[in-house]
Amino acid sequence: MANSRGMLILFSGPSGVGKDTVLDVVLKKEKSLQKSVSITTRNKRENEVDGKDYYFISIPEFERMINNGEVLEFARYGRNLYGTPKAPVDRWLAEGKTVILKIEVKGAAKIKKKYPDAVAIFLMPPSMDELESRLRFRGTESEEDIRRRLEIARNEVKKSADYDYVVVNDSIDCASDNVLTIIKSLDFTYKRMNNFISEVLDNV
Ligand code: 5GP
Repeated sequence: MANSRGMLILFSGPSGVGKDTVLDVVLKKEKSLQKSVSITTRNKRENEVDGKDYYFISIPEFERMINNGEVLEFARYGRNLYGTPKAPVDRWLAEGKTVILKIEVKGAAKIKKKYPDAVAIFLMPPSMDELESRLRFRGTESEEDIRRRLEIARNEVKKSADYDYVVVNDSIDCASDNVLTIIKSLDFTYKRMNNFISEVLDNV
C-alpha cells in the first residue's frame, strides 16, 4: 500500500492570525492527526494549559534540553524561546502518523532542511489591519508586545514565499477545511504512492 512513514506538516502564520483556533478545529475534524506540543520560556496565558498548549519551562531547563539533544529545532520569538521536543515527533513519524508542528518561520526553515519532505502551510490574515485588530481583541499582550508581534508579522508574511501552501483565515470553518484538504491530498502524491505502484507492477 502507500508509504507507511508519517508526514510532517509545518503550520505557521503571524501571531494573532488564528493558528490555534484553526488547528483546534482541524484536530477535532481529523482525529488521526497528531499535534506536537512545544516547549517555551514564555509565561502561560490565562486560558492555556501546561502540557496541552505548551510545556512552560524555565530558561535553564530549556538550555538543558538543547544541550542534551532533546530539541529538534528552537527559535527566539520576541523575548522568548520556543522549541520542538524531538523524541515524540520521531516516534509518531515512525508509527506512520501525520504530525503537525505549530512553528514560526525560522524554525520551519530549519525543519525543512532536516526533513525535506515536510509540507509547509502558511496561515495568512485577510489584511494587516485585521491582524492588528485580532491581536488587540485577544487582549493577552502588552502594547509593547503587540507592536513587536506586528513588526515580526510583516517579515513573516514576506517569508510565506518559502511555504508550499497559503491559506487565508477569513473564516475559521473555511480555513480549517482548506488545511484539511491540503493534508488529505498529500496521501495521493506519487511519492507516497510509488511503493503501491511497484507492488502492483510486481504482481502482473
Ligand atoms: P505564541 O507566543 O503566540 O504562542 O507563539 C509565538 C510564535 O512561536 C508563533 O509564531 C508560534 O507558531 C511559534 N512557535 C510555537 N511553538 C514553536 C516551536 O516549537 N518552535 C518554533 N520555532 N516556533 C514555535
